[in-house]
Amino acid sequence: MCVFCKIVKGELPAKVVYEDDLVMAFHDINPQAPVHILVIPKEHIPTVNDLEERHKELIGHIFLVIKRIAKELGIDESGYRVLVNCNRDGGQEIYHIHFHLLGGKPLGPMVC
Ligand code: IMP
Repeated sequence: MCVFCKIVKGELPAKVVYEDDLVMAFHDINPQAPVHILVIPKEHIPTVNDLEERHKELIGHIFLVIKRIAKELGIDESGYRVLVNCNRDGGQEIYHIHFHLLGGKPLGPMVC
């Protein structure tokens, strides 16, 4: 079972900021910004490449959860970045799709 599935099942600890039937959000263990939250579906979907038509509502829901968390953490007005890595060249380390919510400071331009 992957690390994020273990978090979903409560088998690994996480600093959870939001949870519902479909989604969990928790602090990244190695934050890259003052606010660094990972938002994940509870369903094990490995990468963006594995998304199907049936996931359309789920992905929309995830963005509404991101919006809600950004407001709760006070970064909605200042701004934030939402990032999804896919596969090796995208720098994906955990193969359970996740949305990085980064903010709390000026993030500057995207650097590749
Ligand atoms: P990726 O490179 O997009 O796959 O990002 C994986 C992220 O998961 C990295 O930012 C890691 O710091 C984070 N991470 C790995 N293990 C854990 C954990 O157990 N709890 C919270 N975040 C984790």
